[in-house]
Amino acid sequence: MSRDLTNAGFNTRCVHAGQSPDPSTGAVSTPVYLTSTYAQPSPGVFKGDYDYSRSANPTRTAYEANIASLEDAKHGLAFSSGVASLSAVIHLLSSGDHVVLCDDVYGGTYRVFKMIFDQLGITSSRVDMTDHDATEAAMTDKTRLVWLETPTNPTLKIINIKEIARIAHAHNALLAVDNTFASPVLQHPLALGADVVSHSSTKYIGGHADVVGGVLVANDTELYTRLRFVQNAVGAVPGPMDCFLLLRSTKTLGLRVHRQCESAATIASHFEGHAKLEKVIYPGLKSHPQHELASEQMPGFGAMLSIVLKGGLDAARTFLENVELFTLAESLGGVESLVELPAIMTHATVPAEERAKLGISDGLVRLSVGIEDVADQIADIQRALDAVG
Ligand SMILES: *Cc1c(COP(=O)(O)O)cnc(C)c1O
Repeated sequence: MSRDLTNAGFNTRCVHAGQSPDPSTGAVSTPVYLTSTYAQPSPGVFKGDYDYSRSANPTRTAYEANIASLEDAKHGLAFSSGVASLSAVIHLLSSGDHVVLCDDVYGGTYRVFKMIFDQLGITSSRVDMTDHDATEAAMTDKTRLVWLETPTNPTLKIINIKEIARIAHAHNALLAVDNTFASPVLQHPLALGADVVSHSSTKYIGGHADVVGGVLVANDTELYTRLRFVQNAVGAVPGPMDCFLLLRSTKTLGLRVHRQCESAATIASHFEGHAKLEKVIYPGLKSHPQHELASEQMPGFGAMLSIVLKGGLDAARTFLENVELFTLAESLGGVESLVELPAIMTHATVPAEERAKLGISDGLVRLSVGIEDVADQIADIQRALDAVG
């Protein structure tokens, strides 16, 4: 029996949306349907909605319904990675179409536009979307898609989704929002005017550094039908085991992200003004240039923060060699705290001049705050700062 979750709160939907005890056995956890195909009683007649697992699989259906509910969306679609989900959106376009991206878009997003779709005639340009006049000016009569992330990576700029939706729609373009950094806990872009939302579920949705995945959600049924067609036609779908792990993860999504936000805020205010730091970048700090907008747009400020060390690359290197609790690794959003150096790691492919323009200095260190005790997290950062000469 499926539960009526119409008026249920976020955490209730985390645990139950898309899932109900298995009708044949009563199994409380959604089974992992490790099957590629489904028996047909007569040619072209199916027992349910399933004929072949690239098109649909019951474990994936449960996960897609769960994510749709958490984003307050009508429809959800799961993919084998975040870049597969965003590529599905780009597959809606045709040669000759143009896309406007925010200037510090995720490196993999920029790469798929520049190295894959550009040669197919889908061009893109980048603009600082905190500047609405510049965004307006970047729109051409060929622009069919606007793509943004907020908070951005790793400078944590906040972009006004409502304003950019207005600009996109005035030019007959769709607005896609990559909601990975905020997670479904802190931001529902569809309610602010976005047409489609993309996540790397490798990050907060998965939350345990053990799955790579992506999702899309949308309200418009026609748009969803086109995306679903791409999902099946191009075929970058997740396996049932990944969907099972992600369903298990979303049960604690609300708990995890709230705890992570709380610790990130504590860490940010603890280290703001520290003698070895040029600055602490966190949308929850009053010193953040878009603090007001973040307060309006998000019920929490996220669990990503950046610190800029005064001694540049050398200081950053020493800091990173001395952290113990924070693991030096790419990726983010998990229960374990991670730390990385964008200039050498995630953003190494961005030319130095461009990095400087975006504010990604050599001393900028990005932290993804996990669920460990905040006192231990603070002690670890302090010990590593003490090691910096
Ligand atoms: C990681 C990430 C992606 C790409 O997702 P994968 O799961 O690694 O393919 C896209 N956008 C953002 C903001 C990310 O952090």
